[in-house]
Amino acid sequence: MNQKFISIVVPVYNESDNIRHFYEAVCTEMKKLPYVWELIFVDDGSKDNSREILLDLEEKDSRVQPIFLAKNSGHQLALTCGLDHADGDAVITMDGDMQHPPELLHELLAFWEEGYEVVQTIREATEDATWLKKTTSASYYKFLNIISEVPVQPGGSDFRLMDRKAVMAFRRYREHARFIRGIVGSMGFRQKQYRFTAPPRFAGASKFSPKKMLRLAIDGVFVCSTFPLRIGLYMGFVTMIASLLIFIHVLFETFVRADTVAGWPTIMACILFFGGMQLMVLGIIGEYLGRTYEEAKRRPLYLIARGKPSDALKGIRREGSLVDET
Ligand code: UDP
Ligand code: MG
Repeated sequence: MNQKFISIVVPVYNESDNIRHFYEAVCTEMKKLPYVWELIFVDDGSKDNSREILLDLEEKDSRVQPIFLAKNSGHQLALTCGLDHADGDAVITMDGDMQHPPELLHELLAFWEEGYEVVQTIREATEDATWLKKTTSASYYKFLNIISEVPVQPGGSDFRLMDRKAVMAFRRYREHARFIRGIVGSMGFRQKQYRFTAPPRFAGASKFSPKKMLRLAIDGVFVCSTFPLRIGLYMGFVTMIASLLIFIHVLFETFVRADTVAGWPTIMACILFFGGMQLMVLGIIGEYLGRTYEEAKRRPLYLIARGKPSDALKGIRREGSLVDET
């Protein structure tokens, strides 16, 4: 019988204190399971000695298949690169800091064996998350779900299993600004949700700076929804009604009270109000326009400095976003 092949994709950015520990934990778990597997580390332009550690692991264990990106492209694009190069019948994406516990691998695989094509984990709680992170995250997901065209699961993480069919489908999504949770959620397939509590990081601090976090949050809004564009429409409607009332008031002042002294404050208020509103709506349109421009350039999503060793053996030449489409 042909053994099933599993790919585990792990984006890493300056994780030198975690990689070996994570690798050992994955080996321990996978040893208990009847699969052949590969572990694809996508080094997202690390500046510490993650690279040396990965090259050392690769030399000792041919299942370790690192890919080195040419620069720091961000967690979402590093994940995408890994998904583009994973050969498994099922592909599991997870973080390399032990917050996505390797002990849960067998649970995800069990659901896959049951016939689920996407096993999406949901973080019940993160043990070391601050109160601020928890509340902002919860309100963000509430807001996103109100405006989003597809439901986005609160606490949805990028710890998930995808069947090869789902991975092939995912590879056809080539937008730059991406929120993988939103994409996979909208793809369909037989999905299973699995809840877990994320333990604290094994070593080091979060590699998501507040700036990166904010960027992902903004991407989530603009990628999942065109609702902000409609704000202009709603505001236009409200101001139209308001200006109608003002117009009636002006007619009343002119013909009934015959008090036609020019109302400087009213004019100033109107100019400021409409000016502000137009600027805001222009800003929203600008945001979409800028994004359209970025996507229209069709630049590669990521650049690989050194590819996956097994691909080189197979003579596969894949560059940036050029992947086989099915
Ligand atoms: N990561 C990455 N590129 C980045 C930032 C993070 O590849 O620009 C990796 C990081 O090494 C880790 C995973 O993405 O394996 C999740 O990052 P982190 O643990 O910092 O996020 P948090 O758990 O704090 O949300
Ligand atoms: Mg983490």
